[in-house]
Formats: sequence, structure tokens, C-alpha cells
Amino acid sequence: MRKPLIAGNWKMYLDRKSGVELAKRLVVETAGVVDRDVLICPGFPLLSDVGNAIEGSRIMLGAQNMYFEKEGAFTGEVSAGMLLSVGCKFVILGHSERRHVFHETNEEINKKVVFAIQSGLKPILCVGELLEERERGNTKGVVEEQLTRDLKGVSERGMKSVVIAYEPVWAIGTGKTATPEDADDVQGFIRNAISDLYGDETARSTLILYGGSVKPENIDGLMGMENIDGVLVGGASLKAESFSRIIKYNLSK
Ligand code: PEP
Repeated sequence: MRKPLIAGNWKMYLDRKSGVELAKRLVVETAGVVDRDVLICPGFPLLSDVGNAIEGSRIMLGAQNMYFEKEGAFTGEVSAGMLLSVGCKFVILGHSERRHVFHETNEEINKKVVFAIQSGLKPILCVGELLEERERGNTKGVVEEQLTRDLKGVSERGMKSVVIAYEPVWAIGTGKTATPEDADDVQGFIRNAISDLYGDETARSTLILYGGSVKPENIDGLMGMENIDGVLVGGASLKAESFSRIIKYNLSK
């Protein structure tokens, strides 16, 4: 019922040439993969060329951020319309690097989520706790607050295009991964929270990804869990070999 989604977040890595090369290799590597969706999210200047490189393949294109206004005097920002015009289907919103390096608030993230949906882009809304919040036993409280505030005003219909990514901040780019059981426990909690907000049917059909030091060595265990419907991959999505292996995980559920 929930088709797995394997998404790569290229962050601020790769230039035009290396991005296009990687995209072309992924097209070849994933040619026979049909039972799971694949998404790559390059930096803004690479979107057009990478979009051309994956044209005709089953790989989809996404962006890493956008602004919540249609257009205007917002120097340095990128609109949903611009992203759609170069072929983006998804946009990552509320990534922990946006929250903690660029101090994005839940209010801003909420406006972006609402605007993305209205514009026809599917938001991948990232939520997750800091190490000190986890150590205080507050993981679920933090995640619940982010979900409630970031999804404010999103209708049941709008929720159909939202993907959630649970990304514990202490696991991002650190080599530390949540155990499959820990991630599944929080993701089950997220599914219950979505059920409280939108009802069972919506909760059952919402994709909930895990992100945080996903690599070829841990993908099979993660994807074996009930509430892990895919992954959002940073570092390991930058090399064709590791990302292809992640895409081709052994489906065991
Ligand atoms: C990410 O950028 O969303 C991420 C999870 O990064 P990494 O896989 O490198 O931890």
C-alpha cells in the first residue's frame, strides 16, 4: 500500500559536471527497479541539468528548500513555481540544518509546507530531536510539537502529498544511526500522531522515512521495520555505488 521511497539529499555538495555524472550512473543502475520510488535532491544550480540527465527514467527530482511566497523582492530565495518549472516533484522542508544552522522556525516551516502543497510540490517534512532532547527523554514530545506546528492548516486532502522524514539530529552526518527498533518506535509514534490529526486512513497511507547516517551496511535492517517506508540519505547518496546499493535494499517486510 505504501510504496517505499529512497531519497538522496545532496546538500551543498557536487558541481554541475559531477552531479550530472552521478545522475546518469544512477539511471543505469536503477533501470530495473520498479517496486520502490527513487528521488534525488541536488543543489539549486544543478536542478535543470540533473533533471535533463534523468529525463525518461523513473528517478524523480526534488529540491532542498524553497520560500513561502509566490514571487517578489526576496533576494537569494527560490519559489515553488521556479522548482516546478525545472521538473521538481518534491521539496525537503524543515531539514535540521535549516532549523539549527539557519534558525528556521516552525512558523516559517509551516508556511513553506502549506505553500508547497498549494503549488503542487510534495513536501518532505523533516522532524527530529537533538541529542540533549533525547537524553532528557523528550524525543516524542519534540517530534509531536514539530508535527503539530509544521502541519497547522494542512487539510486531510493536503496531507496526501506530504511525506514525513524522521531524522534524529544526533544521527545526521555523524555515523551514528538510530537502531531499526528505536527508529521504528518513534515512527510508529509519528503514525499515531498523524492518525490523531487526520484519521487512520491518512495515517496508514502516509510515507514516513528515516534519515541519519543511512548506508549500505544498515539499510536492510532499517527497511525491515513496519513503520519505515523509505529513507532520506545524505552522505551515502553522493556516490553511485553506495546509493545504488541503498536503493536496491533487500525488501524483507
Ligand atoms: C540528511 O542530510 O538528511 C542526512 C540524513 O544525512 P546523512 O545521511 O549524511 O546522515
